[in-house]
Amino acid sequence: MNELGEVSLGRSLIVRHPGKEPALAGSRCPECGDVRIPMRTRCGNHPVDCEQFDVGGAGTIYESVHISIPPSGFENPFWAGFIDLDDGPRFFAQIACADGESAPKHGERVQMVVEAIGTADAQVLAPVFKRVSDDAAV
Ligand SMILES: [Zn+2]
Repeated sequence: MNELGEVSLGRSLIVRHPGKEPALAGSRCPECGDVRIPMRTRCGNHPVDCEQFDVGGAGTIYESVHISIPPSGFENPFWAGFIDLDDGPRFFAQIACADGESAPKHGERVQMVVEAIGTADAQVLAPVFKRVSDDAAV
């Protein structure tokens, strides 16, 4: 099964290290600290090479939307939205919402997990953000 980014970027966006939460493959500028996903080789602010940086999956929902007419490759409606990651970037991804659970909304804390999304013939391992209480946030 492909991972998000492998088809479009030629490499997975998901980073795994034993004993740690999965992260996103990004970059950071050693000069200004600008963090980006996917990784940039050069900083957009000035001519400096960026370094690889694992962007953590903890963040806060900036905005969410219910995708009621699923696009090609998806069978069921789902929630998606922009997540303001604690490490800096704003990232668009699916937001988990079980039946009976309240709609995801601005300001709720989330943690990234990696799950298979999409229909059986087009599944991809991708970041999905699950809501966590502030008390449970690390
Ligand atoms: Zn920079």
